[in-house]
Amino acid sequence: MLAVLVLFTIRAWPNALDTELDVTCYKLTIAPIIDQGYISGTVLIDFQINKNANSVVFNAGNLVIDKVVGEHVSGYRKMGADLIIDLSQREKTKNEIVIEYHGNPKKGLLFDNKNGDAYTVYATSQWMVCNDSPEDKALFELDLTIPSDKSCVASGELVQMIPENGKMHYSYQQNYESPAYTYGFAIGNYNKAKEDAKGVQLNYLGRNYSSDQLKTIFKETPAMISFFEEKSGVKYDQSAYTQVLVGNHYQEMSGYSILKDGYGNLVLKDVTETNLISHELAHQWWGNRITCKNWKHFWLNEAMATFMSAAYNEHRFGKEKYQADIGSYYNVYKEIKKRRNDKPLVFDDWSNPSQDDRNIVYFKGAYVLHLLRGEMGDENFWRAIKFYSSEYFGKSVKTVDFQRALEASSGIQLEDFFNKWIY
Ligand SMILES: [Zn+2]
Repeated sequence: MLAVLVLFTIRAWPNALDTELDVTCYKLTIAPIIDQGYISGTVLIDFQINKNANSVVFNAGNLVIDKVVGEHVSGYRKMGADLIIDLSQREKTKNEIVIEYHGNPKKGLLFDNKNGDAYTVYATSQWMVCNDSPEDKALFELDLTIPSDKSCVASGELVQMIPENGKMHYSYQQNYESPAYTYGFAIGNYNKAKEDAKGVQLNYLGRNYSSDQLKTIFKETPAMISFFEEKSGVKYDQSAYTQVLVGNHYQEMSGYSILKDGYGNLVLKDVTETNLISHELAHQWWGNRITCKNWKHFWLNEAMATFMSAAYNEHRFGKEKYQADIGSYYNVYKEIKKRRNDKPLVFDDWSNPSQDDRNIVYFKGAYVLHLLRGEMGDENFWRAIKFYSSEYFGKSVKTVDFQRALEASSGIQLEDFFNKWIY
């Protein structure tokens, strides 16, 4: 299962910020210039902070800040990747500021000059000033201007398209709160296919595949949505879900996912190679909406998505396929143990994780969920997963929340299991 093992290697890991900061909404206007690898943007941020705070810190990557405007802004400075904004009015806990910036991002937003593509991947603060902390969920609105001969997808729902002088302005609105790392967009000269899955429009995009090939590659998607709805007890509540085959990365965003361009060929060769499609889709529940409170509990996002892709394979292709997936997860874990790099799933420090650390979260984590399933028994396990998922949908979670939800639903004490395998 090599495909699964190589996928999640390129990610930046921003530090968690001051948890007193609570952004409620970002409104971004941005116009990337792809052949120059350049962006300029204006972001309006509505946020609340602790009453006594006299400054607020946002993540701003390598962006150059041109202007910060707000009723109580008394000054600002960039220190490394942080944008520190001084506030004069201490009593005021609700704030609105507007930040103008520009830059030539080298990560977070990747430009492919040759093909005229650009797509965001993971580190949102490299292309938009924001709070990178996963705990801080907010609404997101995006006005994206691109050349009219290209197409795009972005987080949220497309609400408007306005043409102007060979360009197209796209407006997207995300009607639910999610962490900043789930915001993004992809722009390119894509071939397209679409289909309807019980009222959800599925869009499949890719430059190097025909429309028919895209349909073949992603044909499991409607069945996967039904499967995750059934396992979580929560309906997919957006009007569309888009998958883009582009570049070298895999990442889930709100309402869409990017998948490595070459991966499509793997699925065309073997229709059961759908783990990455189901993994990223599973994040629309576990990750984007039920989100780890901080990176310490990141396994709740990634182990769940990895395990769910095996569970879908069991449902769709049979027990053997599931066992093969679990076997491959276990083998990764076994190798980590051999190297004496085993660690608990709940990490103390995610500031600089090694490849083994990441694999622990994804693959040991998924293997442990398989063991948990064995410990609880199928019926209890799936009922508990549904209870946990419905209970925490739209919220942030810690490992203890997961444990309590499983125990409350099943009546089974899991203290020993969690101590042994998770803590
Ligand atoms: Zn993932």
